[in-house]
Parts: sequence; C-alpha cells; structure tokens
Amino acid sequence: MDQNLGLIWERCLKFMRDNLSASEHEDVKKLEHSFDLLFDRVQPMSLINHNLTLLVPSDFYKEYIEENYLSLLSAALKKNIGKGVKLWYSVMENKPHGLEKPATQNYKGISVQAPKVQEVLPTSVSKNLVNPFVVPGIKKVNIDANLNPNLSFDNFVEGESNKFAYTVAKTIAKRPGATSFNPLFIHGGVGVGKTHLAHAIGLDIKQNLPDKVVLYLSSEKFIQQFVSAAKAQNKTDFGNFYQMVDVLIIDDIQFLSGKAATQDMFFHIFDHLHQNGKQIILTSDKAPADIQDIQERIVSRFKWGLSAEVKSPDFDTRKKIIVDKLHRDGIVLKDDMVDFLAGEVKSNVRELIGVINSVIAHSMISKSDLSLDLLKETINKIAANQKKTINIPYIQEVVCEYFGIQREQLLSKTRKREIALPRQLAMYFAKEYTNATFTKIGEEMGGKDHSTVMYACETIRDVSKIDKELKKYLKEIKDKIFE
Ligand code: ADP
Ligand code: MG
Repeated sequence: MDQNLGLIWERCLKFMRDNLSASEHEDVKKLEHSFDLLFDRVQPMSLINHNLTLLVPSDFYKEYIEENYLSLLSAALKKNIGKGVKLWYSVMENKPHGLEKPATQNYKGISVQAPKVQEVLPTSVSKNLVNPFVVPGIKKVNIDANLNPNLSFDNFVEGESNKFAYTVAKTIAKRPGATSFNPLFIHGGVGVGKTHLAHAIGLDIKQNLPDKVVLYLSSEKFIQQFVSAAKAQNKTDFGNFYQMVDVLIIDDIQFLSGKAATQDMFFHIFDHLHQNGKQIILTSDKAPADIQDIQERIVSRFKWGLSAEVKSPDFDTRKKIIVDKLHRDGIVLKDDMVDFLAGEVKSNVRELIGVINSVIAHSMISKSDLSLDLLKETINKIAANQKKTINIPYIQEVVCEYFGIQREQLLSKTRKREIALPRQLAMYFAKEYTNATFTKIGEEMGGKDHSTVMYACETIRDVSKIDKELKKYLKEIKDKIFE
C-alpha cells in the first residue's frame, strides 16, 4: 500500500473514532462497539483521482459500513482527501488468489466503468454527484426520500375499487423486496390514488424499517436527471446512485415512452435492484402492455412481479372517502347529503376531494348549517366554476391579481423576488391543479424549461414546510383559485 494512502486512511479512522459520539446514528453505542472490529479488517486499496477503493472481507462489511458509518466516513473523506471523493469497495470473498475474479456475481453486469479488479458496487459520497437527492451534511450523507407525509396508509380509504392494490401495497410495505411482488406495478386512471399508494408504501417502510434507503420520484424527474447526467458525462454516477437505493418508487413510468436512452439506463438499474432483492414500485396510467414506445425487455420486466389496477371509485368507496374526509375536518353530514355528494361526483378521488373542500369552505363562509339545498347550490356553483376554470391562464390570473402584478411580468425572465416568487407559485399551482406536464407548464409560463418548473414546484413544496409567509400565500391563493 502506498504509504501516503496509509497515512490518509489513518487520519480518516482517527477522525471517525473521535467523532463517533457526534454521529447522528441512533445507536452510538453500537457504533463504538463495532468500530475497531470492523475497521481492523478494512484496508485502503487505492486512491486514484479521488476514487478511494476499500478492500473489505465480504459483502457484509460493505453493507455494514454503508448502513452505519456512511455519514461519518463521508465526513472523514471530505476532510482528509477533499470534496468529490468517490468510494468504491472491493470484496475479497470467494477470491483466494487475489482479485483476478469478479468479486460477487450479484453485482455483475452493472458496474460499467468499475475498476477491472472488481465488479462491486461503487457508492459515491461525492458532493459533485449528479444526483440532487444527495444532501451531504457534515455528519450525514442524506438521501431525501421525497415522500409526502400526508399520503399515508392512514389517510387512504380502502374500498372495492382499490382493495387489491391496497392489500398488496400493505404487504410489500411490510417486507420490501422479500415478496414475489417485485416490481409492484400500480396502474389506473387519473386521480384514483396511485401516487397516494406509492407514497404510503414508502412512508410505511421508512417508519418500520428506518435504515432502508427509500426514494420516490416521478419518471419525469428521472428522465430530466438522466439527460443532465448524460450531458455532463456522468451516466455512471447516475446509475450508481440509484443502485444504493433499497426501495425505488417511480411514479408515472409511462413517461419513459419514447425515451430510448433513459430506458436503457432504467433497464440496468432495474435489473441490478431486482437481482439484489431491492423493492421496485412503479405507477402508470396504463397497464404494462399498453404503454407505447417502450422496449419489450422493459415491458416484460414490468410483468415479472404484480400488476394491480386501481379503478375509479365506486359509489360506496366515494361515500367512505367523503365521510372520512369530513370527519377529519370535524364535520358531520347527514346520510342523504353524503349520498347526494357521492352520486354527483363520479370521476375520480381527486375531483371528489376538491368538491368536498369547496363544500367545507362554502359552509364556513355562509355560516349556516349545511342543508341538502345548500349542498346542491354549492355543487352547482362548483360545476359552473369548473367548466370555465382551473387551467394555467386562470391560475396565472389569480396569482397576478393576488400579488398585484402584470401577466407580462409573471411571464418575463426577471429574477426579482417580487416577481420570481409569484412565478414559482403559479408553476406550483399549475402542477397541483391541472394535468399539465412540466414541459407544458414551462411553455405557458413564458417559455421556461421544464427543469425550471420542476425546481419551482420542489422549492415551493420544501420551503412551505417551514416558511409561514409562504404557507399563508399557498392557502390564500388556493382559496381564490377555488372561490
Ligand atoms: P393518481 O396518482 O392516481 O392520479 P393520486 O394518488 O394523486 O391519484 O390521488 C388524487 C387525490 O386523491 C390525492 O389527494 C389523494 O390523496 C386522494 N386519494 C386518492 N385515493 C384515495 C383514497 N382511497 N383515500 C383517500 N384519498 C385518496
Ligand atoms: Mg399520480
């Protein structure tokens, strides 16, 4: 071993040892106990262009380090080697005569550019990693699972229309990767609860198995990341990143249609994860066989596990959703009113919830008790409203009026905060309340790139979690949109 490398590694070990107690790991004692045992048997093998390869006795070591020490190790590497270090493992197992053979079969076929001596999974702890989900902190390399806490199983109403998908989802959440339901392919029409179920699985896993790396994203985001990774010649990093994930949830996978290069990448990631017993969950507005322009090998993989259709809610499911939703808001409706509502709004759950929200709002404004007459009146108003509204221009109009700015300003390129924020809000609402894609919204927002829209939606969502002012904007504008 290079003496220099030996020294560097010693410093890394010292740093880690010194900072064990500061680790964010939930069981610091466990870290302290296992540290020497573990790292005594780990050797630094090479450090080439910021690629550090560790020689570990078996997969177990690699996994143990990844699960328990990654944050510390990442901080140590950053401090002692510098930013942008990538970590690779070479696994000794099954190789009595050195390293001439691939380390393990499991990893075969994926590590496109892995050093020749190994076929193991490199894990990047690089800050420059193309993937924005990696948020390297001082103490922890963190992957934001991207899950919406409101879309839990607790908030999901089970009914005939979703029973099968719901049951399978719950089963998978208990034993991700360990059932034959891999991948789980959830399909169905608009607004029936596919995204909700997908989040619910992720949330449940995070709650019961917090060490699992869960990642939710839309296929649009996946495509966008892949394209920028390809531009930056970072495809390998991109692929490697996804291979770290234990539970990969990709929403609206039908958008991969026609994207051949992204499909190739997806195919490799899929196979790697599948072979390693990682759980894959996909949603789509179509059954696997009905997605256009998608490689046959991918379609056939979609069918490997289980396809579960979520249907439009039937009358009884709609009733249950209404009662549940109102109950959460502390409102009780008489049976005949619930029946009336359930009879009126048939299309999908999203619309149903929209109507319920309006009913609640109206009943609060009018301050009168809800009667069947008032309900009918409300529904009529909503219906009239819905006919003319909630498209992108309408949202732009509401936002402009709210902030007292001109439409031209909203669509302009200026980055002044008093314009940029309304613009981001308009993009966010467009995504929330219309079916427009990021690309379409970008076009209608004065010819912005879809990635700008995506970024805006994310920013608004993230910042509104903590920012009171933004929360207020969201609420007030939403009320105006549905007024
Ligand atoms: P999809 O992804 O199928 O288009 P979503 O999962 O986004 O639909 O659902 C649309 C809205 O309806 C969301 O607000 C979701 O929380 C709600 N929703 C859907 N199905 C249910 C259900 N069974 N119980 C409660 N809420 C539901
Ligand atoms: Mg969806």
